Amino acid sequence: MKFETISIHEGNKKDEDSKAVVQPIVLSTTFERAEDGGYPSGYMYIRKDNPNRKSLENVMAKLEGGKVSCAFATGNTAAMSVFQCLPAGSHIICPDDMYYGIRSQLKTLFKDILEVDFIDLSDLDLLQKTIKKNTRLIWVESPSNPLLKLVDIKKLAAISKNNEIKLAVDNTFATPYGQLPISLGADIVMHSTTKFLNGHGDVCGGIIILKEEDDFYEQLKTVQVVGGAVPSPFDCYLVTRGIKTLAYRMKGHAENAMKLAGFLEAHPAVESVYYPGLPSHPQHQLAKEQMNSFGGMLSFCLKNGESAAHKFVNGVKVFTQATSLGGVESLVEHRYSTEGPDSTTPKNLVRISVGLENIEDLINDINLNL
Ligand SMILES: *Cc1c(COP(=O)(O)O)cnc(C)c1O
Repeated sequence: MKFETISIHEGNKKDEDSKAVVQPIVLSTTFERAEDGGYPSGYMYIRKDNPNRKSLENVMAKLEGGKVSCAFATGNTAAMSVFQCLPAGSHIICPDDMYYGIRSQLKTLFKDILEVDFIDLSDLDLLQKTIKKNTRLIWVESPSNPLLKLVDIKKLAAISKNNEIKLAVDNTFATPYGQLPISLGADIVMHSTTKFLNGHGDVCGGIIILKEEDDFYEQLKTVQVVGGAVPSPFDCYLVTRGIKTLAYRMKGHAENAMKLAGFLEAHPAVESVYYPGLPSHPQHQLAKEQMNSFGGMLSFCLKNGESAAHKFVNGVKVFTQATSLGGVESLVEHRYSTEGPDSTTPKNLVRISVGLENIEDLINDINLNL
């Protein structure tokens, strides 16, 4: 089956009793046992499993080309659960422009538990030098937030394999429609389902997909079920519903983003535009090789500095000034002030989550405010 078909059918189990075509939301916290003490439905207790969560995990494992998957209450928890599977004292290598929420987990919650190096992962010599005996994980974000930097996932996978290190990719920006890290050699894929997967800005969630059903999966399952930061059945239902239209939404996001990137690049008030689909993007060739679609996120810097960036995000009308991304509505954000004082983001940078409005309305709104 192809992507669109999997998206629609793998996360939707028709109801046996009512013959409902759309899978019902099962809110029950507990499931009836059989006379012999068994669990004939396969379900026991809501924290352990639930039909809506199972459908979400099923469709995501299929879409990412993995074997198994575990859904979590937030994207941050999904990432944290991977770190919790590592033995104390493990060394992990992360990108220097890592999503700030996960970076701050490592710097606070894990500061006495894990050793972390944040490096430029496009420098493969530096990566080789940073690997130690206790390195257990390389964490990748591609494209990165908010500078849309890419890393060569295939090359990183080869280095990881040689050193028996697991490679994890935060695939939130690209989505499985745009990029399939497991097919490029990654072991672990992470998503904030809060973003494009749900796609309608009304759910918080996260998910991990694994290439193999191995010991690491058993550990992750324990963190999920015993740790218990699981998503509600209703949240799982909404995300699986969002996934049904993922391919078509991503085509629309990418088409609008490409046009907007081109428009911004030609505008005299704009200093630089960061979008992997632009031929001027320094890694455009790599983007063409490892991505199937360039996605709906872009950033740009204004010539007239931070004040021009503030003026812009406050002036636009079709775009809303807000954080987060991946919904049908376009959002703009002055990223530096969202991230706070330890941010490495340029102060004149504006990040855009390009929505599905008509492109002419988006361009007109920008044109009036640049
Ligand atoms: C939003 C986001 C996260 C964190 O997900 P939450 O659902 O907010 O916990 C992680 N990585 C990336 C790239 C994100 O955009």
